[in-house]
Amino acid sequence: MSRSAHPAGPRHADVLPEGHYSAPPADLNALDPKVWARTVARDEHGVLTVGGIDVKRLAEEFGTPAYVMDEADFRARARAWRTAFGNDADVFYAGKAFLSRAVVRWLHEEGLNLDVCSGGELATALSAGMPADRIAFHGNNKSAAEIERAVRAGVGRIVLDSFQEIVRVAHIAQSLGKRQRVQIRVTVGVEAHTHEFIATAHEDQKFGIPLAGGQAAEAVRRALKLDGLELIGIHSHIGSQIFDMSGFEVAAHRVVGLLRDIRDEHGVELPEIDLGGGLGIAYTSDDDPREPHEIAKALTEIVTRECEAARLSTPRISVEPGRAVVGPTAFTLYEVGTVKPLDGLRTYVSVDGGMSDNIRTALYDAEYTVALASRSSDAEPMLCRVVGKHCESGDIVVRDAFLPGDLAPGDLIAVPATGAYCRSMASNYNHVLRPPVVAVEGGEARVIVRRETEEDLLRLDVG
Ligand SMILES: *Cc1c(COP(=O)(O)O)cnc(C)c1O
Repeated sequence: MSRSAHPAGPRHADVLPEGHYSAPPADLNALDPKVWARTVARDEHGVLTVGGIDVKRLAEEFGTPAYVMDEADFRARARAWRTAFGNDADVFYAGKAFLSRAVVRWLHEEGLNLDVCSGGELATALSAGMPADRIAFHGNNKSAAEIERAVRAGVGRIVLDSFQEIVRVAHIAQSLGKRQRVQIRVTVGVEAHTHEFIATAHEDQKFGIPLAGGQAAEAVRRALKLDGLELIGIHSHIGSQIFDMSGFEVAAHRVVGLLRDIRDEHGVELPEIDLGGGLGIAYTSDDDPREPHEIAKALTEIVTRECEAARLSTPRISVEPGRAVVGPTAFTLYEVGTVKPLDGLRTYVSVDGGMSDNIRTALYDAEYTVALASRSSDAEPMLCRVVGKHCESGDIVVRDAFLPGDLAPGDLIAVPATGAYCRSMASNYNHVLRPPVVAVEGGEARVIVRRETEEDLLRLDVG
């Protein structure tokens, strides 16, 4: 067909863009355990089940779209991180990936700490009983009110992100008669994504204080002088969806270099080092994430080796996984509304949600897979694009995936690995109501975040 030689490139033809699926999977009914939550399976009728409940029942009871979260899987992953790092390190779950009061309780019970980066996240954490000293407060522009609230609550650490914030936090703490434990977030000139990292001389981004040009050293100098602050360590966060540890290696080398300089200049060894989050998960079968224990081993070895070389005692390490804890534990359940074959191209499958419940595809070109969930099928695979119901052609949930050729309106489909950065980034675009989060465990399902209602929408609109 001449279309395959279209000069505008493969996206306009019946040829798939590079890196996307080139052939249908051998078995469309198979569920790759890498991308699905641990208790997901198909029952004897071919219906997808999670935590012992089938999705048809979930759809009937809770409606669609819905985020369905496997509580046992969440707890198991949280525990795996905790166990991997043991008692000489701290795991802070990054609340921005997904936060609700139920999640805060699970984290507390499983021995994790929590990162928050706004007053709203802090309020959620405190209201669900997370002890304040297990909370770290992040953000590049915390308001004075947010800082005051965090200091009053007694959060375990505030991560300072700018010179102005050093003074601001010190002043607020002092005026409350407190000494706030803080870390300084530095940018080490490493940017890591997926399978590679870029080491640069300096950072062009809004977060942190650059190591370059002695700026981080100057920040430390100022923080050490202020009575309202107790500087406990240095923080670095290098990216997201990272599979390759070499970015952390470079980051740790540079942060330990700063710790050594601090020792030499001030005679103090800061007791903590935070290496941030960003560990990758499998969105498709092509992704191969590492297990928490492998990551823990690698990071601990890197820091220990660097500290030995600098003749420093090894500081307490903390890490901040968000996606790697919650991402794989949920899928989004949608109902198919229309199925529109476009000859020679692909079939557009419209679902009852879209970019309002998963902005990642539109925002980051993220890749997802999808499976027919309400039944199995032996029909031939058809190349599909799963799209939402929003007034925007970029409203794509799954760019390229194969679904059975007999897919029809009313079928339920499920998109796995939507636990992180989907509900937490959800919007009301087109006044579409944000879906609930349903937690499933041991044959029981319960709503942990309810579906938004038209009443909710109209309550905010005061006329
Ligand atoms: C976003 C963020 C994280 C979590 O990132 P994940 O990719 O979800 O692991 C951790 N720490 C900081 C400072 C962050 O900004």
